Amino acid sequence: MDSLLCPCCSSNLEDSNHVFFAGNVALELWNRIALWLDLHIPEFVNMSDIFQWIDGHGGGSKQQRILNTTCVTLIWILWMYRNSVAFDCSRLKKHQLFDLSIEESMAAVGAGLSVVDSVG
Ligand SMILES: [Zn+2]
Repeated sequence: MDSLLCPCCSSNLEDSNHVFFAGNVALELWNRIALWLDLHIPEFVNMSDIFQWIDGHGGGSKQQRILNTTCVTLIWILWMYRNSVAFDCSRLKKHQLFDLSIEESMAAVGAGLSVVDSVG
């Protein structure tokens, strides 16, 4: 890597806050997910913000499971997209990210899986 700039926009320093929360791609994806879930999603600064917010939605409820899975899926997809751009393999296109997030998280919820459960 010859640059500290974000490979997606080339205009900001790349750190996890930018890639997952504050960058244009991330912001747009979080906004669309919020609309889709019909929820107000606050601005996150780091990962623990997300999990605190999810925890506020009632332990073990269906809604919490969906939130958990959707948020983790979204972060995973943002990371895959970032790598796809950084390594120029163009596997993922920006316009696919939202649909992919929904598909993947619904598949995970439907299978009774929570990515967080299996990691933590
Ligand atoms: Zn960027």
